[in-house]
Amino acid sequence: MYRSGFGSILASETYPSKITARFHTVPQRRLPWEIWVGSNGERFVREDEPSQPARERALLQQPELRYWIVFDAGIFERAPPGVIGWTREQIHAAFDSHPMFATAPTLAALAERAGIDAAGLQRTVGAYNQSVRSKRDSLGRTHLPLAIRRGPFYAIRHQGHSASSVVGVAVDDRLRVLTAADEPVPNLYAAGELLGSGVMMGNAFCPGMLLTPALTFGRLLGSGTLAEK
Ligand SMILES: Cc1cc2nc3c(=O)[nH]c(=O)nc-3n(C[C@H](O)[C@H](O)[C@H](O)COP(=O)(O)OP(=O)(O)OC[C@H]3O[C@@H](n4cnc5c(N)ncnc54)[C@H](O)[C@@H]3O)c2cc1C
Repeated sequence: MYRSGFGSILASETYPSKITARFHTVPQRRLPWEIWVGSNGERFVREDEPSQPARERALLQQPELRYWIVFDAGIFERAPPGVIGWTREQIHAAFDSHPMFATAPTLAALAERAGIDAAGLQRTVGAYNQSVRSKRDSLGRTHLPLAIRRGPFYAIRHQGHSASSVVGVAVDDRLRVLTAADEPVPNLYAAGELLGSGVMMGNAFCPGMLLTPALTFGRLLGSGTLAEK
């Protein structure tokens, strides 16, 4: 049931890491000018995919839930700044100093610096540029404003992550904790995040569906309502 958020720019390789920033990946807020590639250099979803669950499910196929947002000098100059809340100058400065921001004069050098498969990235950019020319994209992307062809080239690494656990301890309908043999453990109850978000939401994201059950189940337990069932 696991599905991560679509990703952030982490501050460092050392986990747990803080989040430096997020890139616009919601096409309803900013249409994509860039491409998104996995470590094999291939695109894995149309970047203007309108459905958040579809984007997140596509990310699940990427090793380590990791991808890079790749663009060139032309896109950097003409597209609205992609890092949320940052100016173009701030983004520029990050390419000089931040470990998740890589730039290089050629695509091959960019791939090596960022940790992306170079042949895969070259192939992908070639195919994408053909999509821009023909206005037909193999993944179905319709927003195809500019080819990726003029150095320097840029890549920003993104990491999918979660704020909570999908799995947790098993309970019965009175919130009694169950053993592996499905036997209730005497006098042991569980509620809240400990149950895991999957039991409440399945393979989906529903805002409020962690806090609300935590409060509700805790109250039901505390009031003795469940004991009387
Ligand atoms: C960044 C973030 C954003 C979130 N946003 C949302 C949201 O928008 N909507 C939503 O529904 N949910 C959201 N959640 C999830 C939600 O906040 C949690 O699932 C919920 O708060 C869990 O409540 P809880 O009472 O089960 O656990 P907790 O709130 O984690 O409470 C457990 C308590 O037990 C204490 N504790 C731990 N060990 C011991 C010990 N040995 N002895 C005594 N006390 C101990 C801890 O200090 C803690 O206070 C978010 C979570 C995060 C991290």
